[in-house]
Amino acid sequence: MEEKRDFGDLKREVIEKGKCALCGGCVATCRLLDYGYLSVDFSEERPVIREGQQCPPDCGYCYYQCARVEKPELREGFEEMYEVVSTDEEIRKAGQDGGAVTSLLAYALNDAIVEGCITVADKGEWKPEVQVAMDKAGLIRSAGSKYTPAAALTGIADAILKYDLWSVALVGTPCDMVSYEKMLVVGRDTHNAHNFSSHIKLRIGLFCLGSYSYEKLMKGYLEHEHGIDISEITKLQISEDVLHVYAGEKELLSAGINEIGDYKRDGCKVCEDFTGLFSDISVGNNGTPKGKSSVIVRTDFGREVFNGALERGYIEAKPIEKSGADLIHRLMKGKKEAGMAEKEKRKKLMEQFK
Ligand code: SF4
Ligand code: SF4
Ligand code: SF4
Repeated sequence: MEEKRDFGDLKREVIEKGKCALCGGCVATCRLLDYGYLSVDFSEERPVIREGQQCPPDCGYCYYQCARVEKPELREGFEEMYEVVSTDEEIRKAGQDGGAVTSLLAYALNDAIVEGCITVADKGEWKPEVQVAMDKAGLIRSAGSKYTPAAALTGIADAILKYDLWSVALVGTPCDMVSYEKMLVVGRDTHNAHNFSSHIKLRIGLFCLGSYSYEKLMKGYLEHEHGIDISEITKLQISEDVLHVYAGEKELLSAGINEIGDYKRDGCKVCEDFTGLFSDISVGNNGTPKGKSSVIVRTDFGREVFNGALERGYIEAKPIEKSGADLIHRLMKGKKEAGMAEKEKRKKLMEQFK
């Protein structure tokens, strides 16, 4: 019989090997969650166990839930691509590129499809903070991209244990979507009093080319190297290989993505999913003109929500231009190949040291 694995194995095989996506899935599914046994240390950007504690011998939930230990299988889905813009001016102004995510969520909340939405807000100085938004004001607080890790899956525990919600939308990066899928597949068998896996009704994945260390990108690069006051920043945007930093209408910095390549998290370098293949709906800013969102509908439920938001006048949409779809497919292919190449490189390095 195979020996049961635990957090020590997760640490050795995933975290210390630079594979951790910092999705927070292990924290949310820790058997001793109620005791705060496992948490994310954001200064180190890794999951950590409380000092001096021992895991129960029969556990291992965190290990088996981690999508970096074993990926879940992709169920059949489809791909309908649209160019979308929110019809709500306040949302358009607060959001990034069309405000599609915020408007889809506003519709889902108002139509009682979900009771709350797990999103990432700004805690101050662009530090990401997972929150459960239950109204438009909460959604607007989380509008706009942050490019540093948030461990969004920890929000599932908050939504259920703190707020007692039964139907929730999860917005996150592709790794968050994979991690939730793993929770759905593995969680039903192995876990647990809270049965998190039945509470997420809607999954919205955000296009992602990488997440960056907060200390290195925000503090080291923007604040120290470029003298930018982080509290002045109103928008960060990575598009077409360029990082743009804004304070209102003023562009504070525009820099090639290569300049910040060293600050990308190691766990992101092995990532192969650009759009969030495990989502109901994927959203991003590549492939559509400025001020519009690219939206990919992937599941029947995603289509239901998308059509509902369209019919009820929350969004306007038209099929994406071919050039936009081609760009998205190129980026998908490029990220997959880069992730596979990095894995191969690491494998060869390991073999050299054997
Ligand atoms: S990838 Fe997610 S589940 Fe795996 S160790 Fe990192 S935070 Fe935990
Ligand atoms: S108690 Fe279980 S789930 Fe929590 S860290 Fe230990 S092995 Fe992982
Ligand atoms: S690059 Fe991959 S692992 Fe990193 S944040 Fe994006 S989806 Fe997650």
